[in-house]
Amino acid sequence: MLDIDNTSDTIADKDRKFLWHNMLPYNGNQPPMVVTEGKGAWITDLQGNRYLDAMSGLWCVNVGYGRAELAEAAYEQMLMMPYYPLTQSHLPAVRLAEKLNEWLEGEYVIFFSNSGSEANEAAFKIARQYHQQTGGHNRYKFIARYRAYHGGSMGALSATGQAQRKYKYEPLGGGFLHVHPPDSYRRPAGQSQMDFNLQCAQAIEDMIVWEGEETIAGVILEPVITGGGVIVPEAAYLDRVQEICRKYGVLLIVDEVICGFGRSGKKFGHLNFNMKPDIVTMAKGLTSGYLPLSATAVRKEIYDAFKDPAAYSHFRHVNTFGGNPSACAVALKNLEIMERDHLVERSRLLGQRLREEMQELLAHPLVGDVRSFGFLLGIELVQDKQTKEPAPLATVNKIIGECKKKGLIIGKNGDTVAGFNNVLCFSPPLSSTDEDLQFIVTTFKQVMSNQVQASD
Ligand code: PLP
Repeated sequence: MLDIDNTSDTIADKDRKFLWHNMLPYNGNQPPMVVTEGKGAWITDLQGNRYLDAMSGLWCVNVGYGRAELAEAAYEQMLMMPYYPLTQSHLPAVRLAEKLNEWLEGEYVIFFSNSGSEANEAAFKIARQYHQQTGGHNRYKFIARYRAYHGGSMGALSATGQAQRKYKYEPLGGGFLHVHPPDSYRRPAGQSQMDFNLQCAQAIEDMIVWEGEETIAGVILEPVITGGGVIVPEAAYLDRVQEICRKYGVLLIVDEVICGFGRSGKKFGHLNFNMKPDIVTMAKGLTSGYLPLSATAVRKEIYDAFKDPAAYSHFRHVNTFGGNPSACAVALKNLEIMERDHLVERSRLLGQRLREEMQELLAHPLVGDVRSFGFLLGIELVQDKQTKEPAPLATVNKIIGECKKKGLIIGKNGDTVAGFNNVLCFSPPLSSTDEDLQFIVTTFKQVMSNQVQASD
């Protein structure tokens, strides 16, 4: 329902005057889209235009928009008991922690925060303190990969391997190191994909040895690099990284902020592989974005090192809003919906169909590679298929703009990865209907075919 004052012009003026947006370069003449409603995979803007949101907001609205059940869960919990800090306890947090153990298929103790960045910050602090308390006094460094994003706060940004996100904010936290990601599409000519992946894993072992194994606290990785260009490794890469972590007593931290909660076609991304992480971080799909909530799941044996009664041995980290009761109640209902509506299986099915459809575009002169993981797909655009020179940002933006004109919102890994802002991203709600999927495919193919004609 809009107030009298909510004409497009006044809202646009107020937006320009008062609101500071995420990641949006200032453009006084082009106000951002003001979204007013959502249902299923579709959103509506202030002018009444409808769009299929094939990015689920920011990779998070896994169960789709407009779920009254989630609103009711929040409302009921807010009436019953709106807030209490997790210095003590409350029912929704206990229930959710238990439920997450079921989803993780392992024994974990759960620390709640509000955002993916905070979940990763907690993971770094837990890892350092764990080593301090188990004899690894010098273990403070973390190894991450270039192209990966782990958050915007100082520690999480330090772990991020995207220089464009860091410019002008440095110096960041110390002790974060980066290695080459397993970006098979850009492997050296003549090298097999498997050899290249194993070489990338070997780079982690080399770094541990060169830095001194007694200084390395953890390796952080997403099962598949998502926002950094949908980089899907060979399973053998992850097996090898896990083996290396175990060999040197380095904790394996898996960032499931995007890959978690069905996106990958399994409950968590790492469950597609033979992985048993020491720490799992999660956010976004945990509540499908309906309320802020994140979690750091820590293997029970690691938590045991925090039971020592000696001074400063417990985890001295407080997060006022982390594990807010209504957010936990929404998360529980969100997981119930996913189970009831079989959305994890649906994600796998829709992901396969999307991949089959989009692979046809490999014949298109601009499409260098199509990569997917569950219902998450990336299309790498190039100017020249031989040299693999990335398509310019202007071309990428034009395609995104044309899709939007036709009512389809897609994303990109743009403005963040040096030289490689050329991967279009698709991450639609897992609840998308068959017709939604058809709309995504038909609209995108139409836009790509116009693109060929325009350049003829
Ligand atoms: N980790 C990954 C893989 C992400 O994609 C993001 C955000 O996009 C984060 C962490 C940080 O999450 P947040 O923006 O909730 O702090």
